[in-house]
Parts: sequence; structure tokens; C-alpha cells
Amino acid sequence: MTTHRQAPGPVAAPSSSPSSSPSGAQYLLRIDDLTPRMEPGCWPALVALIRRHALQPILAVIPDCQDPALNRTQPNPQFWPELRALQQAGAAIGLHGYRHLCQSRGYGLVPMHRSNEFVGLPAATQHDWIRHGIQLLHQQELTPTLWVAPRHGFDRTTLQALQANSIRIVSDGFGTAPYRRFGCIWLPQQLWQPRLHARGLWTLCIHPATLTPASLASLASFLDQHAHRFTSVPRVLNEWPIPAASLATHLQSLRGSLRLHARRLLRPQTSA
Ligand SMILES: [Zn+2]
Repeated sequence: MTTHRQAPGPVAAPSSSPSSSPSGAQYLLRIDDLTPRMEPGCWPALVALIRRHALQPILAVIPDCQDPALNRTQPNPQFWPELRALQQAGAAIGLHGYRHLCQSRGYGLVPMHRSNEFVGLPAATQHDWIRHGIQLLHQQELTPTLWVAPRHGFDRTTLQALQANSIRIVSDGFGTAPYRRFGCIWLPQQLWQPRLHARGLWTLCIHPATLTPASLASLASFLDQHAHRFTSVPRVLNEWPIPAASLATHLQSLRGSLRLHARRLLRPQTSA
């Protein structure tokens, strides 16, 4: 069970980083595609797991979802109050794009999908979408503190727009530890199902609308054994060294992207 609770609000990296990584593996749980009109799917069960284990996950919220694949029901009146309660309990709110309409074409900094929402768009458009997305979440009393790109699609212009709106943390990329790149802190996201590791920081991404009962049971079992290994974004910023990305990190990230890109061709439901 995690013991640190953090009030919601802007997340800032400390001025000095620890010199060594925590011993043993740590995990971040990230839940994507959150929108009030989503198919409930496993979401209620995920919330129950979060509360049972006092997890402080990343909740990736779509500010103005227009994606027909996700807008499947009437708006759930409990959606926003539930997210506010989870934020109050320490969850980090991720800005998950703007409308989740992936009509742009081109590979960004994490080249896993050619179609996405942001890559290649003019700076003015990206700034407008990010600023308006943040405003919409603020209207729901949510404070997004990090960026979660739909389909991993973003470029340097996106990062500049995020920084102009005080978001400097990105949940994406590969590697086994956080690093700094293009003015942002990157928290790698490498898992779509639980997997035990000896060391490193691992972000496990879950899509509640498509999570199967078997996958949910696997997650529940993993948490029963390893919930104490799950950390939070503020704890990562305080407890991990966060150096500039090295050449090895760049190569590791590129290799990871290409491997997942190939795997996605065989299993297209992963990593959206
Ligand atoms: Zn998504």
C-alpha cells in the first residue's frame, strides 16, 4: 500500500535529484481514454482496485471527446465527481489530447502510429487545443499535470505548447527510468499488461473500455502481490534521478517504438 498522499496541483520537479534510483522495480498505473460518455466496462472495478490499494494512478482524461469509438453512452453524471475524488486522493490528471480525433498523419517523437491527433499541426492550433483542453478540465476542477498523447502522437511543437501552459511532464517513450528531453521530464510507458521486473520504473497503461475480465483479474492478482511497488508521479519526481536523455536512452526509445509498432500490426488493440 502506498503511504504518501499528495494534494492535487501543479507538479514540479525538485531542484536537485537523488544520485541513485530506488532499489527494486516501481510501477505507475495509467488509465487512458477517460471520458464521461465512455462504455463503463471495467472502470468501476478499476476504481475499486485503486481505492482498495490506495493507488495514486495517472488518469488520462480527454477534455472534449469527439471520438465515436469512445462516446458510447449518455454522459455519466458520476464521472466528474469520481475523478475529482480520485484526484483528491492523489491521482495525477493527464491531459489526454483534446478531442481524441486522430486525423493528422505523420510520425512524431514516439513513432508508433502514423495517424494521431497532434503531429505536424501548426503551432497556433496545437497551442489553442492544449490551452482549451486545460481550461475544460479546470472547469471540472481537475488540474492536469502531465501529457498523455493519444496514439503516442506529439512533436516538439506539442511540447512547446505544453510548456507554455505549465505542463512539463510527459508519460511516454521507452527506457527504464525517467529522463529529461526537449525541456520536459519523460516518464516512460512500456507495459499494457502486468509484468514483474527486478528494477526500473514501469508505467502500466490500461484502457478500461476494452479491458477484458481476464486482464482485469490478472491486474487484480498482480496488485495483491505487488501493490507496494506502485508509486505516484510526485514520488517519482522526488525519488528518482532525472538526467538528460543519453544517446543510449534515445536508442532504447527508438528500439522500443519500432518493436511496439511491429507488434501493433499483429495486435492492433494495444497502445492506442
Ligand atoms: Zn486514447
